[in-house]
Amino acid sequence: MKNELQARMMRDLDDKRPLRRAVEHAFRHIDETPDRRPFPDDAALARARAMHAPMPEAGADSSAVIDRMKDGFADACVTATGGRYFGFVTGGVLPATLGARWLADAWDQNAPLFRTSPAANIVEEICEAWLKDLFGLPDETVAGFVSGSSLAIYCGLAAARWRLLERQGWDVNAKGLNGAPPLRVVAGRDTHGVVVKAVTLLGFGAENTEWVDVDANGAIKTEDVPALDDRTILLLQAGNVNGGGFDDFETLCARAKAAGAWAHVDGAFGLWAAAAKDYAHLTAGMENASSWSCDAHKTLNTPYDCGVVFCRDGEAIKSALHQAGSYLEIGAGRDGMYMTPELSRRARAFEIWAALTYLGREGVDGLVSLLCERAAQFADEISAAGFRLAAEPSFNQLMFACESDEETNHILRTVQESSEAWAAGAKWFGRRVIRVSVCSWATTEEDVTRSVAAFVNARDA
Ligand SMILES: *Cc1c(COP(=O)(O)O)cnc(C)c1O
Repeated sequence: MKNELQARMMRDLDDKRPLRRAVEHAFRHIDETPDRRPFPDDAALARARAMHAPMPEAGADSSAVIDRMKDGFADACVTATGGRYFGFVTGGVLPATLGARWLADAWDQNAPLFRTSPAANIVEEICEAWLKDLFGLPDETVAGFVSGSSLAIYCGLAAARWRLLERQGWDVNAKGLNGAPPLRVVAGRDTHGVVVKAVTLLGFGAENTEWVDVDANGAIKTEDVPALDDRTILLLQAGNVNGGGFDDFETLCARAKAAGAWAHVDGAFGLWAAAAKDYAHLTAGMENASSWSCDAHKTLNTPYDCGVVFCRDGEAIKSALHQAGSYLEIGAGRDGMYMTPELSRRARAFEIWAALTYLGREGVDGLVSLLCERAAQFADEISAAGFRLAAEPSFNQLMFACESDEETNHILRTVQESSEAWAAGAKWFGRRVIRVSVCSWATTEEDVTRSVAAFVNARDA
């Protein structure tokens, strides 16, 4: 005997109407992508805002829910998989990974334990092995699959805190930080905001951090890095979010290792350099770090949210992120929750597996190279058009500006509003710059030329 609500859901599952409606809308959206604005116009934003209403008392037909979602929100999306969205470092989505996500969502897996999802944990084991190999990380490295680099960095630093204090005879899990032996944190001045967030969440304190000057691309000045010791966490970057700079891992990771310090490499988008022949020199020497973090949702173009933490010291990360509960049946196989802070977690490794299987090693190299080549093309064309590059382009990042900050702001706003292309602004060494991240597989040479033209037209108007 089913109650009325169950009967409704059973009907939805039987005839699959809401799923079919979703697929129809999704396919139409995808087909319209080349002509979609990179950023929504005011009318689309107004339609989305008009969805604000008191929560309904009575429910609605499932297909009508999907229709209403599409009508209200589809046009208020940014077109991240289009060719002319260069904001932040967002990344598009590879079709195979979108399919993988849909299928995994239909499987409805919860990933923390082998017991909650054998499939999710086995695919995590496979991705761990493939990614370690692709990036050239040490054999003993373990990987945790998290929502993105923010959390991956947090996990790496939590492992560092646990291990460095353990070596000082201090159990941070039991005793906390009150009275703990002090640890040092050394980082580049232009480290990503989420690194600073992890530093503050873990109780190190942003003001206690020893900030080191950076070069024009945001890479740490190697010669300015202070002496390291076994109480120091050294925060390094593979790919500065603005300037695309890579730190000198060859020197700094070796120095950290020799001193017993813990080096963490934030490689949200830049760790992928290691997987491309022409760019692998950028990450040379990073295998001597203790932990690393990267996103799959940026350079690899999987759906959100998909990041990975790698830690050479399995005991440290598992101890830092340990949790217990008498109802948790552990040890039947890989239990991914030991390398992540969450318990319940979606099975996002399927998307990484799908991307790597679809691309193969050659395709990963090809994708990374494609993004970097388009960035180089953008830099060439924009500087030929008379804009000033704020630094040499590096990896998939470039920054440019006009003579004055006002003009830079004005042109950026004009292009954003025209939505011929979309880029974000930033402050770089005290000056306003327009920053371009080429991060979608869909960006063609024509997209780059058309986007450069949008900036030229905005200036000449
Ligand atoms: C994007 C980015 C982050 C944050 O990653 P999320 O996946 O958004 O949490 C950290 N560091 C760098 C260099 C980034 O580009």
